[in-house]
Amino acid sequence: MQIMDLFPNNRDAEQWFEDNRWADGVVCPHCGSHNIYTRPEEKRKNQPHRCRSCRCDFSVKTKTLMHKSNIGYRAWAVGIYLMTTNLKRISSMKIHRELDITQKSAWIMMHKIRETFDDGSLIQFSGPVEVGETHIGSKESYKHASMKRKQGRGPVGKTAVVGMKDRETNEVTATVVNSTDADTLQGFVTENTEETATVYTDDARAYHGIERPHKAVKHSVSEYVNGMAHTNGIESFWAMLKRGYHGTYHKMSKKHLNRYVNEFAGRHNIRQMTRLTRCNGLLKTWMGNSCLTRS
Ligand SMILES: [Zn+2]
Repeated sequence: MQIMDLFPNNRDAEQWFEDNRWADGVVCPHCGSHNIYTRPEEKRKNQPHRCRSCRCDFSVKTKTLMHKSNIGYRAWAVGIYLMTTNLKRISSMKIHRELDITQKSAWIMMHKIRETFDDGSLIQFSGPVEVGETHIGSKESYKHASMKRKQGRGPVGKTAVVGMKDRETNEVTATVVNSTDADTLQGFVTENTEETATVYTDDARAYHGIERPHKAVKHSVSEYVNGMAHTNGIESFWAMLKRGYHGTYHKMSKKHLNRYVNEFAGRHNIRQMTRLTRCNGLLKTWMGNSCLTRS
């Protein structure tokens, strides 16, 4: 609902796109001219601007991923906003219902947004980030003897989740993983961070040799807070996640657990006040890139 309030109508959303694309004044997407006539508000059309140099009509959609799209600005704005808050798994059904566009339109729109975000560095954390894992699921000790697995203590019978928190923005991303080996954990980190991001982890061997500036804290010798090298941020996120999990969802398949983890991270991120500012920044990059590379 907060997101919907940010873009109360199509005109406001259109203005948001214009402010981001043309912070220094409207520029013709066809010839680059600044000599633009914009129709007055009451006569505003789908193509509100006219270039006096090349005599083309255009809108803020022209030559971006929204080019020739009939989907309204509000739907685009909310879609982009949701997808920059790491709610990667938000369903097209939800967008379709919330925004009153057909499910097919919602699906196409999300696909276009995802395509742009996935081929660039737009959702990478710049850091410093804290990375950690947790294990979620029922404790073996609570189970009936016949249901217990035979292996020792620890994460037997639980599902592993890896996550990271950006110390600057407080944003979190997390996902269910099949393994906590070096390939999986390091892959998660490099996929979600910029190359220069400093990474704080515990001293698990799986993080050794990671291709990022790296500092580890040795939990094994009770060195939990070693200057900046602590992982308290992601640990507190795990604590919240587990409270939510135990309070609400007692049984959950691995597939549903991942959805829950994503939604939980998304809600956490939406609470961050810097969010809209960052979204604006992302949009600027997005519009800039798409103007250059898409036609
Ligand atoms: Zn022009």
